Amino acid sequence: MNQSTRDPHEELREAVRDLCSHFSQEYFRRVDEERGYPEAFVNALTEAGWLAAMIPSEYGGSGLGLTEASVIMEEINRSGGNSGACHGQMYNMGTLLRHGSEQQKKSYLPRIASGEWRLQSMGVTEPTTGTDTTKIKTTAVKKGDRYVVNGQKVWISRVQHSDAMILLARTTPLVEVKRKSEGMSIFMVDLRQAEKSGMTVRPIPNMVNHETNELFFENLEIPEDNLIGDEGQGFKYILDGLNAERTLIAAECIGDSYWFIDKVTQYAKERIVFGRPIGQNQGVQFPIARAHVNTEAANLMRFEACRRFDANEACGAQSNMAKLLAADASWEAANACLQFHGGFGFASEYDVERKFRETRLYQVAPISTNLVLAYVAEHVLGLPRSF
Ligand SMILES: Cc1cc2nc3c(=O)[nH]c(=O)nc-3n(C[C@H](O)[C@H](O)[C@H](O)COP(=O)(O)OP(=O)(O)OC[C@H]3O[C@@H](n4cnc5c(N)ncnc54)[C@H](O)[C@@H]3O)c2cc1C
Repeated sequence: MNQSTRDPHEELREAVRDLCSHFSQEYFRRVDEERGYPEAFVNALTEAGWLAAMIPSEYGGSGLGLTEASVIMEEINRSGGNSGACHGQMYNMGTLLRHGSEQQKKSYLPRIASGEWRLQSMGVTEPTTGTDTTKIKTTAVKKGDRYVVNGQKVWISRVQHSDAMILLARTTPLVEVKRKSEGMSIFMVDLRQAEKSGMTVRPIPNMVNHETNELFFENLEIPEDNLIGDEGQGFKYILDGLNAERTLIAAECIGDSYWFIDKVTQYAKERIVFGRPIGQNQGVQFPIARAHVNTEAANLMRFEACRRFDANEACGAQSNMAKLLAADASWEAANACLQFHGGFGFASEYDVERKFRETRLYQVAPISTNLVLAYVAEHVLGLPRSF
């Protein structure tokens, strides 16, 4: 490769690949079969400093941008692993970094960087409001020097493997605010403390091996010092973090996509049916080639979203579009990979069915494809609001 086409992240990729190479496909398959958590893998990532990539060096991290963080997540998925077990820390930490007080940053960030503390969870979604976040019913009412939280959340991930969670709750009733996006606040919740004093965790068994839960709050008291930023501005703060989350997930989908394409390309060269490799048939080649084309295109949008985020430019449109394009490309690659493995694609030992389930999630979470399209229609094209 000449200088102009050299991948600027090659060194970073090699270092992450090296770590991932110590965790085989068998390791991730076993974790999946046992419905376990890849504890050893997450510990190794933390010890190597990768999960503190975006924490500034004065707080003990490496001070890298979303671009580099996304490369780390991509490489994990490309290696056959699943960043879903640990990606929360990257974007949750960003919310704290951008909106937390200096005292909060000094208190939390070095502990997160060292791995003493995990900030893997974010509690936004509720059972009766779904994507319509401004209608959340969980309330946090100020009483003296505390906030008292009541309500319910659903699909809150990694709670059992995190020490803390960023929680979105309504601090001013909807009927009392001028704009529905006002009156919500975010809090740092010490999860182990909360479990002893008003928060109940109920795990949700699900299609992917993704640790996710229902949370019930009954008079959970949170010290007022745990409010992040200004009261009433929490929705805006969460939105900043969602752009980072969508872009990181786009990168994970791209990692998945390359994994599927590599796997099926290799298989199509080796599998002989009717006396020739199945990959010699254009009916087999074209779906794989198309998935590759779409992955490469999605990758460009992912890097544009990263560039804008790191330059503090508006990136809502780019992160949403990157997430949609990458999730569609990985799903297309997943289908081609499963299809051309024939019956073997369904056997756990090929890992295709595991990765297939994992990448399917990103059509729905953290934002569904329809809602991305609604965002583009309204905010990019100026079409009338549909909801
Ligand atoms: C495994 C998993 C992990 C998750 N982790 C977290 C987490 O850690 N924290 C958290 O807060 N949330 C989490 N979520 C929640 C996730 O963000 C939501 O499931 C997702 O945003 C969709 O919301 P919903 O499930 O309420 O679907 P709904 O909002 O009920 O939507 C259902 C379907 O209807 C469609 N739809 C709804 N309204 C419209 C419309 N106006 N136009 C067109 N289509 C529409 C949607 O596209 C969707 O396909 C997780 C979800 C899963 C499955």
